[in-house]
Amino acid sequence: MLDDTRDDTNADTGSKCSGKPEGKRKSTDASLVVDAEGRILRASAAAEKLFFAQAGALAGRQYGFHFRPGEDTDIEIMQPSGKRLTVTAHHHIVEWDGQTAVQIDIDDHVHAHPSGKSSNDLLRALVAHSPLAIIAADLSGCVTLWNFTAVQLFGHSDVEMRGQKLPENCVQYEDSLLGLFERALNGETIQGYEVTGMLGDSESLIDVEVWLTRISNARGLPGGVLLMLADITGRKKIEAHIRRVVGHDPLTGLPNRRQFHKQLQRLLHHKKHQEMMPILVMQLGLDRFRAINKSLGPLLGDQLLRDVSRRLAETLYETDLLARTGGDEFSILLRGTHHIQDAVRVAERLRQRLAEPFILGGHEIFVTASIGLSVAPDNGIDADELIRAADSAMARAKEQGGDSSQFFTPELDTQARNRLVLENALRHAIERNELFLEYQPQTDVARRTIVGVEALVRWQHPEMGLIPPASFIPLAENCGLIEDIGTWVLNAACHQLHVWDCAGLPPLRMAVNVSARQFRDSKLRDQVALALVRHHLAPERLELELTESILMRNTSDAIKMMERLKALGIALAIDDFGTGFSSLSYLAEFPVDTLKIDQSFVRGADGQIRNGPIVRAICTLAAGLGMRTIAEGVESLQQLDFLLAHRCDEVQGYLLARPMAPERLAELILNPASLWPKV
Ligand code: C2E
Ligand code: MG
Ligand code: MG
Repeated sequence: MLDDTRDDTNADTGSKCSGKPEGKRKSTDASLVVDAEGRILRASAAAEKLFFAQAGALAGRQYGFHFRPGEDTDIEIMQPSGKRLTVTAHHHIVEWDGQTAVQIDIDDHVHAHPSGKSSNDLLRALVAHSPLAIIAADLSGCVTLWNFTAVQLFGHSDVEMRGQKLPENCVQYEDSLLGLFERALNGETIQGYEVTGMLGDSESLIDVEVWLTRISNARGLPGGVLLMLADITGRKKIEAHIRRVVGHDPLTGLPNRRQFHKQLQRLLHHKKHQEMMPILVMQLGLDRFRAINKSLGPLLGDQLLRDVSRRLAETLYETDLLARTGGDEFSILLRGTHHIQDAVRVAERLRQRLAEPFILGGHEIFVTASIGLSVAPDNGIDADELIRAADSAMARAKEQGGDSSQFFTPELDTQARNRLVLENALRHAIERNELFLEYQPQTDVARRTIVGVEALVRWQHPEMGLIPPASFIPLAENCGLIEDIGTWVLNAACHQLHVWDCAGLPPLRMAVNVSARQFRDSKLRDQVALALVRHHLAPERLELELTESILMRNTSDAIKMMERLKALGIALAIDDFGTGFSSLSYLAEFPVDTLKIDQSFVRGADGQIRNGPIVRAICTLAAGLGMRTIAEGVESLQQLDFLLAHRCDEVQGYLLARPMAPERLAELILNPASLWPKV
């Protein structure tokens, strides 16, 4: 089996090796010289051939077999075919390059393996012919068995690997074969573990499935680990392909129903742990698509669906999820939209975009769409419920003639549309002069005189009538109109104060409400400064009311913002005080002048004070911090008495005056007797 005809090119042996082989047998052509650690210093060409190694590949590697100078041992060499050769190795001490080494001469006599049917033979055959890469390693991780499939998988020969540490670098990513090896060594049996990105033959990345188990030595003690590896690279590729195909619609390349369902469910699950923002689902179906498809033919019909999907994708935000969930149906998850009126707006935009003609086969094709909308949590909290709700809303839209959008719940529909109408109307409210201010007096309790007014905005809509601020201020905050409205209020209030000044009224203080978004806007300070200059007002004439909840949101930033405003010389009040759970330590740091006790503590049943202890505590707290108190919502004499008794500085409420037009307020100030009730 050994190729005796091959030349031994070991011409330099004599020059380096000065020892004399001790053995009595003839030295064979196949010989190796190893150092004391078993590292191969030289291998003859015949030895390389014997071990199926490339020329020069053995030098520097571990010999891997046991050797004892002066002794002969039988060693087994596995052939690529899986056959094993047993040859005898003779060891003798030699001098090699000035150091003591061992020369190993390998007898050319090959022991024939009895072609017996012993279990050992069977096992050998099994290992040799196994389609699995079978590797054994000793306790220190050095390879003791490396079958032919392992050779093919990793591109290293049996001889190259024997005695080598398991190649750590053949694992590229998170899983280390050595880590698994350690676990197996500790007694764990690892079955079918997938390791991706191992470095395989010719540096290619491969995926393998591995089985590892600990093996015992002759004395029954842990002797090492047996590894079996199956190359699953091909299977993984097919699986990934199937996943792609299964998750996507081949016609449009969009996610399909399954994928949509999965992502929606994931979002719903994720949202459960967060604040419950509405999640909006849209089902869009093309009207009379069957007829269009029939007249166009299947090829152009497919093209139309592709064009529709492109237009839809262009119209939506990138964060939204668009899927093709049926022949002519698309599902949309609006991830960038948090208000139901915005969903109506998106639906309208999609319909408008689809209404533009499609050019197919030289013809203009017109399509319309019906859209159903559902929202979590109102219409359901899982994906099935929401999709079903959007589906049935879409069906309803189709029944009613198509070319429209509908919410699943009619009330939601009305609410969303009303809000949308309101929002659209609000956009024009300022320019159409529909906003106006009323002023509610703030009265000094001890002196019984009006010392200030609070400006309260109203919206007079030509059709909808008078709309209270509680209905449109939050809407203005959401749709970005609050800055404009806030600036208008500030200027209108300052202008009014100047008009009163010019009319000879005593100098009043003007309180103006500031909303959360306005307060966070860095332009607020400049707008205030400008309004003061423009309307010839001393800064102390203006007081800004900030709600407690605004101030508690990001306290250190809020303090900075308040300090910038205070630097203008204006006054600051905390509105609705007591409802936002101010931290008392922060309160001391807030540069505020006034605490406005929230109405909910003042207005009790039958004109009683609602929560006397809280009102008393706020008055004491404010006095301690050097702040003024003003009680809101004072409607009865009992409440007024209580506030008087507990040294509340000012009161504001229906008992004294409702918010009113500026002309009436001027009359009231000029005739204050009508204001103060007989106590
Ligand atoms: P607020 O700043 O706490 O204003 C006090 C509210 O209580 C006003 O309601 C006022 O009319 C009402 N009120 C005053 N005295 C009494 C009373 O004795 N009994 C009862 N039941 N109510 C009384 P309004 O005008 O509807 O304003 C509501 C809220 O809208 C205000 O609460 C404020 O947060 C906001 N707001 C009003 N105008 C503006 C504005 O120009 N800008 C901003 N950002 N918010 C405003
Ligand atoms: Mg206020
Ligand atoms: Mg208030």
